[in-house]
Amino acid sequence: LVVLDGVNKWFGPLHVLQDINLTVHTGEVVVVIGPSGSGKSTLCRAINRLEPIDSGTITVDGSVLPEEGKALARLRSEVGMVFQSFNLFAHKTILENVTLGPVKVRREKSDLVRERAMGLLERVGVANQAEKYPAQLSGGQQQRVAIARALAMQPKVMLFDEPTSALDPEMINEVLDVMTSLAREGMTMIVVTHEMGFARRAANRVVFMADGQIVEQATPDEFFTNPQSERARDFLSKIL
Ligand code: ATP
Ligand code: MG
Repeated sequence: LVVLDGVNKWFGPLHVLQDINLTVHTGEVVVVIGPSGSGKSTLCRAINRLEPIDSGTITVDGSVLPEEGKALARLRSEVGMVFQSFNLFAHKTILENVTLGPVKVRREKSDLVRERAMGLLERVGVANQAEKYPAQLSGGQQQRVAIARALAMQPKVMLFDEPTSALDPEMINEVLDVMTSLAREGMTMIVVTHEMGFARRAANRVVFMADGQIVEQATPDEFFTNPQSERARDFLSKIL
């Protein structure tokens, strides 16, 4: 579903993505881990074209990501993204946050979108907050709204970049639970996270990045019990 082929990206002299090859199949959950600065966020942003790449190709559902314009907007709407910071529209209600994209970008009918949005808010457990504003919600609730907002565009794949790292500890699980159930329902997901419990429980594959390269990839079981590279062993010894 998502294929990166020989992707390279430089920030000035810094080679942040070094010949990245990665294929994510429909229904697969790939957890990306690695030290700070290894290029995980850049990888996510490249998949969504928030960050241009210097060489290589990225295809989503068979289409090469276009540079710009309407085709890019359409393709981008097929890739849902949830960031570390919640990025909700502060002056819109929770429900409006979820309905805005489908109505404005996809020109869907507002009553249908509203119904779907309420269903999604129900699913992430915040339907009773629909008329409130983001600042009135906890961080965990806001992040669940951000997930509902991304899902409202009916994406083919969901990208998560450290979705729980800005949350207080007691709110982390409520967000991970929503993500775990999404994974179980067959959503294709690429998740950057330091939550190894989530990786063990929900990932089909763990991709370990360091210094702009994919150093190794394996099932969670293989990776956590028997990492192949020195760098992965070193990383795991620091976080586990
Ligand atoms: P973290 O775990 O801290 O989030 P990361 O693996 O997500 O790290 P990236 O944010 O992808 O890492 O950054 C990779 C490298 O690229 C880092 O060295 C970072 O400083 C650099 N970098 C990121 N964005 C830019 C930018 N806009 N301009 C210049 N350098 C950047
Ligand atoms: Mg990052």
